[in-house]
Amino acid sequence: MKKMGWKELPPGAINPWPGNFMEVKTGTFRGGLKPVFHAEHCIHCLFCWVYCPDNAIIVEDGKMKGINYDYCKGCGICTVECPTDPKSLTMEKEEQKL
Ligand code: SF4
Ligand code: SF4
Repeated sequence: MKKMGWKELPPGAINPWPGNFMEVKTGTFRGGLKPVFHAEHCIHCLFCWVYCPDNAIIVEDGKMKGINYDYCKGCGICTVECPTDPKSLTMEKEEQKL
């Protein structure tokens, strides 16, 4: 592979490919914990959908339906913001695929 010279390299800290995270499956970033949905406690407030930075909460007809693990990076924000007691979303261990 031919190495690029400095004139060919894109400037640092600039994303030359905006929107790329729709194509890159951010779920591969998860490091051993994933949110698990407990539908029996959910009140469908959709706070999880509002706060999820990766648009990984699945909503159909205004109701929370689950998590798209292709894009969930396991940050845990949804479990913090979920207002129910007990929580409708909890972080749980997942087996890592290396
Ligand atoms: S853990 Fe983070 S990325 Fe995954 S669904 Fe919750 S808020 Fe979204
Ligand atoms: S934040 Fe909790 S209660 Fe609200 S929709 Fe999401 S899972 Fe359901």
